[in-house]
Amino acid sequence: MAELLFRDDPYLKGCEATVVAVHGNAVELDRTVFYPMGGGQAGDTGRIGHWRVVDTRKGASTDSVLHLLEPGAQPKPGDKLEAAVDWERRHRLMRLHTALHLLCAAVKAPVTGGRIADDKAHLDFDIEMEMLVKDEIQARLNELVRSNTQTKPVWITDAELDSRPELVRTMSVAPPRGEGRVRLLEIPGIDLQACGGTHVANTAEIGELRVAKIRSEGRKNKRVTLELA
Ligand SMILES: [Zn+2]
Repeated sequence: MAELLFRDDPYLKGCEATVVAVHGNAVELDRTVFYPMGGGQAGDTGRIGHWRVVDTRKGASTDSVLHLLEPGAQPKPGDKLEAAVDWERRHRLMRLHTALHLLCAAVKAPVTGGRIADDKAHLDFDIEMEMLVKDEIQARLNELVRSNTQTKPVWITDAELDSRPELVRTMSVAPPRGEGRVRLLEIPGIDLQACGGTHVANTAEIGELRVAKIRSEGRKNKRVTLELA
């Protein structure tokens, strides 16, 4: 079980850590700034010592994080190393991730899926195509960005979450459980939902957004894709 430093401070770019286990090219550390792929958000890349981290995934147990290293890397348990994420890439992921929370507010419909890459992000909605007007959505999103609203994480218990199902917006992504508590992201007056990802501290930090495309991916999936302008 690793200490997940990105959860309390998504702006932490690096940390010193000790290797606790090595499974082939996957390394576990006692603490990490690397976000493992989950909740639709891509896993971090970066460096551990002088080795390249090509992706980050969740391990078998709660809070275990697997740093997938380039071929040929040979860290050993007990090694103390500097871990550093590719910050520019991660910051784009944080901006696009937070942008999807604004998209949830701009489009009032059930969310059926979503994905965040470092160059674009999308949500799928269960809605009629003609309800999705590109220019209107883009204008609303940029209004929300400019509202300069602070985002804030809020922790609640699993039981509280069960009693408030409206806090789970993305039907295909169950919030991480098993610790007895679940993290919500609150963007006051705009959005409140269970989310374990990494976000920027203020909507203004997202910067201008562009609705790149809107297309049908099936009866219950109308996909809205965003890019940083
Ligand atoms: Zn989120």
